[in-house]
Amino acid sequence: MSDCLFCRIVAGEIPAEVVHEDELTLAFRDINPRADVHLLLIPKQHVASLEELDESHDALVAYMLRLLPRLAREQGLADGFRTIINTGPAGGQVVFHLHMHLLGGPTLPGFG
Ligand code: 5GP
Ligand code: ZN
Repeated sequence: MSDCLFCRIVAGEIPAEVVHEDELTLAFRDINPRADVHLLLIPKQHVASLEELDESHDALVAYMLRLLPRLAREQGLADGFRTIINTGPAGGQVVFHLHMHLLGGPTLPGFG
């Protein structure tokens, strides 16, 4: 059994509110939403963070980026959304399985 939280969600060992699943990725609601819509998009394969990426992940990452606007539209975010990728402890990363935060909705706070 993996000790990675998000690998365990992929394996179905920990429940999550999944909104999208395909061969390569899973998207589910953040357990502690910071906006009206707050999804996490992850690769099914374990990649710890952006720091771990190499050329073999190029297609996967491009696929995930292209998936984000589709997920946002499905969540009713017609006017746009925010994507955040925290990397490393100093970047605020808490779960070390690559994830893209997708945030949106009327209460999205200003950035900066
Ligand atoms: P990070 O700070 O690593 O970029 O973000 C990790 C995110 O995972 C946080 O927003 C946190 O709320 C979310 N999270 C942590 N544990 C769980 C969990 O068990 N289930 C879900 N759905 N989200 C989680
Ligand atoms: Zn993992």
